[in-house]
Amino acid sequence: MAIPNRYKFSKGNVILDLKPLCIRIADQLGIEPLDIKFEDLTDDSRLYIKENYVAISRKYENDYEECAKCIAHEYRHVFQIFYVCLFKNNRLKRLEKELQGVVNSSNMKNNGSNYTSQEIELDAFAFTKYYLETYESIPVINRMSGYDEIIDKYLYVNHTIM
Ligand SMILES: [Zn+2]
Repeated sequence: MAIPNRYKFSKGNVILDLKPLCIRIADQLGIEPLDIKFEDLTDDSRLYIKENYVAISRKYENDYEECAKCIAHEYRHVFQIFYVCLFKNNRLKRLEKELQGVVNSSNMKNNGSNYTSQEIELDAFAFTKYYLETYESIPVINRMSGYDEIIDKYLYVNHTIM
């Protein structure tokens, strides 16, 4: 899938480009890179699976690291949809149900607990942290206290599917 726009950012003297980042993340997951569009969103990012693109909030238009987090997170949801069979059988039914009725940050409870406690969300946040810290040198600290410890445990148990 073509990514028509090259969104470039400068960080010091380094020009950072979202297009090769999209390709690297997609390669890691074994999926096709989806297009990126900036839109007015109430949440950080959204996956439009049928329309084949990831929408990122305009507030991150000039923020490479936040864009990287959005792309890793939403691409992981694409991976989950295509590779749900990779997950352990006892988790499959629950995951399929969650994928059908995805709770996003626009309909979550105020504290976000019902949003991030879902296994698919935990998996997407865990992949984002693992991938960006390991391969892109982008530190990922979650705003919700205690969540990074849960992610570390999840990564320890599930490192083979990252
Ligand atoms: Zn998500």
